[in-house]
Amino acid sequence: MSEPLLDIDDLTIVFGGGRGALPWQRLPDVRAVQHVSLKIDAGDTLGLVGESGSGKTTLGRAVLRFLRPQSGSIRLGDFDVTGFGRRVPTEYRKTVQVVFQDPVGSLNPSMLVGAIIAEPLRIHFDMDSRAARERAGELLEQVGLQRHHLDRYPHEFSGGQRQRIAVARALATEPDLLVLDEPVSALDVSTQSQVINLLERLQRETGAAYLFIAHDLAVVRHTCHRIAVMYHSRIVELGDSDDICERPAHPYTELLLASIPDPDPAVQHLKSQRRRELAQGVAGASGRAPTNSCPFAERCPHAMEVCWESFPEPVPTATGGTVWCHLHTTGPRLGGRPVSELATDAQLAEAPAAAADG
Ligand code: SF4
Repeated sequence: MSEPLLDIDDLTIVFGGGRGALPWQRLPDVRAVQHVSLKIDAGDTLGLVGESGSGKTTLGRAVLRFLRPQSGSIRLGDFDVTGFGRRVPTEYRKTVQVVFQDPVGSLNPSMLVGAIIAEPLRIHFDMDSRAARERAGELLEQVGLQRHHLDRYPHEFSGGQRQRIAVARALATEPDLLVLDEPVSALDVSTQSQVINLLERLQRETGAAYLFIAHDLAVVRHTCHRIAVMYHSRIVELGDSDDICERPAHPYTELLLASIPDPDPAVQHLKSQRRRELAQGVAGASGRAPTNSCPFAERCPHAMEVCWESFPEPVPTATGGTVWCHLHTTGPRLGGRPVSELATDAQLAEAPAAAADG
């Protein structure tokens, strides 16, 4: 079997607590990413899905080597990314490129589009101005724009067109991997599908692999070969896109799927009902904050005592994926008991006295 293009192994990223309001105060560390392992094969797309604050963008930034993880490793092709010192090799910057969510903020408003796309061509391929302009024109055409757009400024374009320009600039270095950080979240629905179709076509033409970061499972469902679902710094489910969307194994994945609107009113009614059930996690009433527990325990309607005591080990799913959930190891089927059925602390305290009375 061939080696994956991107190999992330047991990655942990902690943002160190800075100083608080008072001189002696130190803010607690924030674990943004914990023990994450992922692989992407050449030419494949992995969707990384989760809500805001789940750590997915931090993970993408670590792959881009915008920040250094505390432990674990990242390898991209022949590059040992976590082994880089302060200076990241120019060749690595050429191999991995990024498209950000906000095409307004990511394009320099004072530069003409031609100069924006030519810049990486001159840096990485040492092209002269004429050759760089020629290639920039080709790239614009490849993303569905025209050569005369080279002489316009970013503000003269719509949101979708600006994202096409950002994609053209990212493709200029002929990268092996594109990190797409919520690339369509700022666009309206019809423009979203145009940009997604463009990204799919470009992947077929260039063979680049994508790490597609999104908060919406509906966006990545038809775009990605595989999906990793992330919740509160942890991967909780990983598998083929169709399998994850048709037979989710983790309660959080179920919640994400139930949140996707459906045009059929009957289906939508069932989904809303399911979403309400999932959102009313019984364990939240306990007031216990997750530490080494399952991070979803406070919201999960199936939470059991064991969920508060340890993060689950990975378990293979029936569809060939992997899930991190105690339901699949010590769940009710296997003798576990939901938290809602467990005795409260007060009942436990009264139990010896009741036994003695009896
Ligand atoms: Fe719910 Fe427990 Fe599974 Fe977490 S491990 S998702 S709390 S059942």
